[in-house]
Amino acid sequence: MQLIPCPWCGPREEAEYHYGGQAHIAYPDDPQGLTDQEWAQYVFFRDNPKGPFAERWMHSAGCRRWFNAVRDTATHRLLTVYRSGEPRPEVPTP
Ligand SMILES: [Zn+2]
Repeated sequence: MQLIPCPWCGPREEAEYHYGGQAHIAYPDDPQGLTDQEWAQYVFFRDNPKGPFAERWMHSAGCRRWFNAVRDTATHRLLTVYRSGEPRPEVPTP
C-alpha cells in the first residue's frame, strides 16, 4: 500500500483517499451555449497520458478536503501534491 501525503494531514494510507479524475478541468463559461458534442467533450473526455498526470484526490477518511496530485501513470508513483487553487509545482522528470 502506498502512502499519499495529504497537504493538510500529512502522509496517510492510500485506502483513506478517493480518486477524482483529471485536475484543472474548467467548467464552461456558457454551458447553455455548448452544442451536445461540446458538452459531451467536457463531461466525458479526459487526457490519458503515460507519465506525469495532474489529478484530483479527496482525503475521504481524514479531513475530507480535495487536493491535486501529479502521479506518474506508468509507475503509479506520486510526484507531488498541492492544494486546490495553488499552481501546479514543477515536477522532476525521470
Ligand atoms: Zn487530509
